[in-house]
Amino acid sequence: MRRPVIAGNWKMYKTIREAVDFVQTLKPLVVATTHCEIVIAPVFTAIRAVADRLEGSNIRVASQDVAAETGPGAFTGEVSAAMVRDAGAAYAIVGHSERRQYYCETDTTVNQKARSALAAGLVPIVCVGERIDQRSAGKAETTVDEQLLGGLANLTAQEVSNIILAYEPVWAIGTGQTATPEIAEQMHSFIRSRLRKMFGDAQADGVRILYGGSVKPDNIARLMQEPDIDGALVGGASLDPDSFSRIVNYKDSR
Ligand code: PEP
Repeated sequence: MRRPVIAGNWKMYKTIREAVDFVQTLKPLVVATTHCEIVIAPVFTAIRAVADRLEGSNIRVASQDVAAETGPGAFTGEVSAAMVRDAGAAYAIVGHSERRQYYCETDTTVNQKARSALAAGLVPIVCVGERIDQRSAGKAETTVDEQLLGGLANLTAQEVSNIILAYEPVWAIGTGQTATPEIAEQMHSFIRSRLRKMFGDAQADGVRILYGGSVKPDNIARLMQEPDIDGALVGGASLDPDSFSRIVNYKDSR
């Protein structure tokens, strides 16, 4: 059985004070939640304060990125995976489409970041997903396949069992245009079949594949009915504690 993961990606929102206020409000709303792992990804500067407030709770912390280099070293502006771990995070998002689009991250960079995260004992949440032009050209699966081959290159089967994947079609991120459950499931099932070829049955059956792209309280329950959707990576709707807790507690709203 794959335990679902509901993760909130706050992007470049929330000061330390706002982040702390959020988690203080969220904690009681999800205190009874046991059916899924709950993760939030604040900006780097808020990780320590948020992790401190969440100690002993059922909510874990992620970074939104890590340096490709393991460091320490002369890499101005970068934050290593070990530093993120030291600040209290247990997961790290890598390869988000905004990083690929605005900061020129390639599958090679994503691979280095995933490996750095694993080496530091973090669980990488590796994002893949096609743009609308790639889908329109019939290249959605080829694009995701390349991202998987590059992003997961040279990982051992053991390492792969410690990662989480997130399928986030770029055309669905922040647009309100959620992929239909059928389209999402088709890609999730494709991803699992590729994992089976690359790493074997145990890894393919064990890896959690999250869906991301305009997930909201009113569409999460339906998405979660699909057999290969193991949770969600949530952007906009994770910024409000009420809306995020309703996504986390999707089982109650069925
Ligand atoms: C994201 O940023 O990973 C995301 C899925 O954003 P949104 O939920 O706002 O589409």
